[in-house]
Amino acid sequence: MKAITVKLGKVGVEIKDIELKQIKNKIKVRTISTGICGTDREIVYNELNFVKPEEGDYLILGHEALGIIEESIENSIFKEGDLVVPMVRRPGNCKLCKIGRQDYCLDGNFIEAGIRGKNGFMCEYFYEDEKYLVKINKSIQEYAVLVEPLKNVMKIVEVFNFLKNRVSWECDDSTYSCKGAWIFGTGPEGILISLVFKSLGLITTIVNRHPLPTNILDFLDINGIEFFNSSSDDWSKKLKDYPMDVAIDAAGTTEIFNQIIENINNNGIIILFGTKGSGSIEKGEFITKIVDKNLSIAGSEDGSKLHYIQASNYLENYAPKQNIKNLITGIYKPEDIWILKEKPKDEIKSIIKWS
Ligand SMILES: [Zn+2]
Repeated sequence: MKAITVKLGKVGVEIKDIELKQIKNKIKVRTISTGICGTDREIVYNELNFVKPEEGDYLILGHEALGIIEESIENSIFKEGDLVVPMVRRPGNCKLCKIGRQDYCLDGNFIEAGIRGKNGFMCEYFYEDEKYLVKINKSIQEYAVLVEPLKNVMKIVEVFNFLKNRVSWECDDSTYSCKGAWIFGTGPEGILISLVFKSLGLITTIVNRHPLPTNILDFLDINGIEFFNSSSDDWSKKLKDYPMDVAIDAAGTTEIFNQIIENINNNGIIILFGTKGSGSIEKGEFITKIVDKNLSIAGSEDGSKLHYIQASNYLENYAPKQNIKNLITGIYKPEDIWILKEKPKDEIKSIIKWS
């Protein structure tokens, strides 16, 4: 079968012919589509130091996927023809991994499909333990490849709900209509976070430090999400109508962290998801502001099986209303491996169609 692979420690990507052995008690899944994200491109450019093969010196790429069951196993809840999304992270041996919360792994000894220690899904078929498959309704087939990136957002909402219970957050009509969410970063995760916070009823603003292509601006506009260009727009003017009560960073620079601490309202919630991690923090002043403003700050990484299910439910409910299919800006063939090296200018999400 065709598989898109990288050689460990080398820059580049190739399409290889690989045959997988039938594995007992595992379900055979035929790949329908796989999404491409920043992590895949970082792996191709050999920029991540935690990439590990499953065996040999190559790794099949791909962790965002949708597949169809080709051969099930006895007594399985899955039958042939069911649509499924495979989970990325597989548990290690710690206490939290043992209860399915490998997203909160204590020791880092988990494995991740297409990233560390397990082949991914950019191939024509794969064998999978049914525990790590999430059933998908046929009505969302067209964009179900977004379940994986969206599950991260569902976990962010879980963290947000936990932190917001610290103090009353409701507006005087019991809703959140007076509260504002600011999302930093306009990649697919940033846009998905904005859509979900908009659906929660918050005034939602998305931020980048450069102008956006028209297709992204139009998509945000249709969904009632405000765009703020942090290099040229006026912060104090914008904050009057678009308050910052929760800030979610999907980029990861300390410049953004500075801007958040400076502009967020008292009792604000900051959730960090981006991991680019550059720049430095002026400690003293920061501490005073975090304390004086009663801020809560949390990191959020990955998500559990429950979040995959919530993501799939979210797409069933909101994809038609929010035009989510327009997030898929390019559909490519497995042979188009250049797409793993080059990002098209107007890309939100590029996908590879396998069958
Ligand atoms: Zn663990």
